[in-house]
Amino acid sequence: MFENLTGRLSDVIKTLKGEARLTENNIQKALREVRLALLEADVALPVVKEFIARVKEKAVGHEVMSSLTPGQALVGVVQQELIAIMGGDKADLNLSTTPPAVILMAGLQGAGKTTSSGKLAKWLMEHKKKKVLLVSCDIYRPAAIHQLELLANQTGADFFPVQSNQKPGEIGTAALDYARKHHHDVMIVDTAGRLGIDEAMMQEISELERLLNPIETLFVVDAMQGQDAVNTAKAFSEALPLTGVVLTKLDGDARGGAALSVKHITGKPIKFTGIAEKLTGIEAFYPDRMASRILGMGDVLGLIEEAQRSTDEREAKKLLKKVKSGKGFDLNDFKAQFQQMKKMGGMSAMLDKLPAQLSQAAQNVNVDDKVIGRTEAIINSMTPQERVKPEILKASRKRRIAAGSGVSVQEVNRLLSQFDQARKMMKMMNKGGMSKMMRGLKG
Ligand code: GDP
Repeated sequence: MFENLTGRLSDVIKTLKGEARLTENNIQKALREVRLALLEADVALPVVKEFIARVKEKAVGHEVMSSLTPGQALVGVVQQELIAIMGGDKADLNLSTTPPAVILMAGLQGAGKTTSSGKLAKWLMEHKKKKVLLVSCDIYRPAAIHQLELLANQTGADFFPVQSNQKPGEIGTAALDYARKHHHDVMIVDTAGRLGIDEAMMQEISELERLLNPIETLFVVDAMQGQDAVNTAKAFSEALPLTGVVLTKLDGDARGGAALSVKHITGKPIKFTGIAEKLTGIEAFYPDRMASRILGMGDVLGLIEEAQRSTDEREAKKLLKKVKSGKGFDLNDFKAQFQQMKKMGGMSAMLDKLPAQLSQAAQNVNVDDKVIGRTEAIINSMTPQERVKPEILKASRKRRIAAGSGVSVQEVNRLLSQFDQARKMMKMMNKGGMSKMMRGLKG
């Protein structure tokens, strides 16, 4: 799943180097790659077109944050648009109605309706503590009714027995009565599918929809069908008021196009994905997680997110100016530096993001998360005046600060000398550049 897409998108990073700003020109080649990647993954053409247009619009003029390469910045934009095209926020199953909440399952034969009905029953019982009734309206295939009964037995959900000669509408209304009487929270209705779109099937399920007034009508579709899945989805969404999609067989050898196209084509969000044949093989769908999976670049995405989250650009620029000039750098700024580090998930989280060798080297430098916390506590215990003019800190003030922050006076001294060194280093950098700084470090 998504292998080619992932591979091609990671190549995109390499096509952009050393640019400070994304422009129409410099992203052209990268966008071509993204476009090809999506087409290869069997994403529907109108979706590809719109996607590329949106990425372009967002990317052009996008300033590249100093901690990122231009390629990474573009990947950030692509990630945001992937999330958006899959529906943005996670779409929850809606059960807020007078019980029983009816869930109608629609889709072609073989899509995974019956299996998904069983999986969903189990999921609702385990995750939402619901009492679930399973109902089969697939009167044309006694084997399908039996299959659902087996699933009910395996999951512990209740099963509504069907009498011969009952029509789907009759089964549905009788089951609804039964569920009301037996206080079921949720009633999942499996329906008959056909091999292709078929007028009679559509009429039958539309009638069930009218009779049962389901709070959720889920369209079940096989991810392996690619473009075909999209066409079927369109037909179903035109015939039925769908509320969401269950995308099955994501564990198969699919290229991923359906996952990216379905929301855009039907206007309905994916709510669940099927990820294995077994009954536990169902997951709630998170567009952001899926986007990360598609991009397959956990490390890069992590860096991008952190850079975005933690860069309060103006503050950072102000700090940088002070660091560069060495003027006016006080303990407030020193604390801000530590806070920035904390926002990025602390030292250990940052180390995890680095390539293995670098990370090992950095581990040897003795900075841990506790130090960050204590540094902050000490500075917090100082008065505003002390933070700006640490020279006034004599013994009695230091004792007060140590007591206030729960550390020893030695630790307060250590922090002050660290701050002093940092300030000296900045001044040196400012006056004499790197070589002088290196000499300063040696001496
Ligand atoms: P229905 O005709 O729509 O009711 O489809 P079924 O529920 O009978 O499923 C058809 C086949 O797909 C069965 O062999 C299922 O085990 C299989 N299946 C359904 N969902 C998944 C899934 O998420 N992953 C895998 N690997 N197989 C699935």
